[in-house]
Amino acid sequence: MQANDARRAFPCFDEPAMKATFDLTMVRSADMTALGNGPLVNTEERDEFWVADTFDTTPYMSPYLVAFAVIDYPHLDFTDHVASPGFSGAMENWGLVHYMESYLLYDEAWSPTYRKIYVASVIAHEVAHQWFGNLVTCEWWDETWLNEGFASAMDYMALAPIDWPVAELGLYEQVFPQLEDDEYNTTATLRPEIPSPWDAWDAFSWTAYNKGASMVRMMQQILGPDTLQRGIQVKHNNSEIHYLKLQAAADNVTDVGGGPLDVASKMDSWINQIGYPLLSVQRDYLDKTVTFNQEKYNPFGLDQPSSPYE
Ligand SMILES: [Zn+2]
Repeated sequence: MQANDARRAFPCFDEPAMKATFDLTMVRSADMTALGNGPLVNTEERDEFWVADTFDTTPYMSPYLVAFAVIDYPHLDFTDHVASPGFSGAMENWGLVHYMESYLLYDEAWSPTYRKIYVASVIAHEVAHQWFGNLVTCEWWDETWLNEGFASAMDYMALAPIDWPVAELGLYEQVFPQLEDDEYNTTATLRPEIPSPWDAWDAFSWTAYNKGASMVRMMQQILGPDTLQRGIQVKHNNSEIHYLKLQAAADNVTDVGGGPLDVASKMDSWINQIGYPLLSVQRDYLDKTVTFNQEKYNPFGLDQPSSPYE
């Protein structure tokens, strides 16, 4: 129900920061099966044709993660992954992930290899959201890039244990396309203004996914994988923190010596303006000097929107 469809399904305070537990009872046709976010705890016959299924109370979560489905095929009692005809994209509902059919279904006999990689990366993305988004959530839609950036980074990082060419795929699918988009002056910033819930979808730009994932890769390379992971683990261990905010994450990250790392201010100029810098390095072998020059990469000489940075 992301971004704001929960309010269309039932009365609720439908904002990401307004977390609650949900108790769901679904009345379905007797010959079908109902699925909810959690396990089924009670079934009650209503009459000859209808049955009421009650599901376990959900974790404390944003309303946009509530989901239900009625199916006519068998399923296993784990986190359910459902391929829905007519559904577009994929959605990380807690315990009941929905996919368009081509994002989940793979047939060894006729599907091409790239389809196997794509399906694996989409599943990795949605499973990563159970943490980045579901457990720790952006407080408002303007921080959507943190949800989508971390989940998108996991598209490929999660495939490392099966020895797929993770780094190359991440570069090819996420970093290079974003570098190309950001050559122009029309891309969105990572933290766009989202004045009302009806503007929420503006936050789900390719920038949020591709540049967001690129930022996570960059943070991983600056901090080192262990430090980045430690920052995320602190968040999990502190039950007070339910919202994903870069500043809060930065406050929790320390360097190997235990000192503070000001990650947030280092990332701000990447987050609040479009584009990226072009770094030129000139070596003078006679003087034995190296000169660095940095400017905004603007290959087409386009007018640039105003920026809070020089
Ligand atoms: Zn996502």
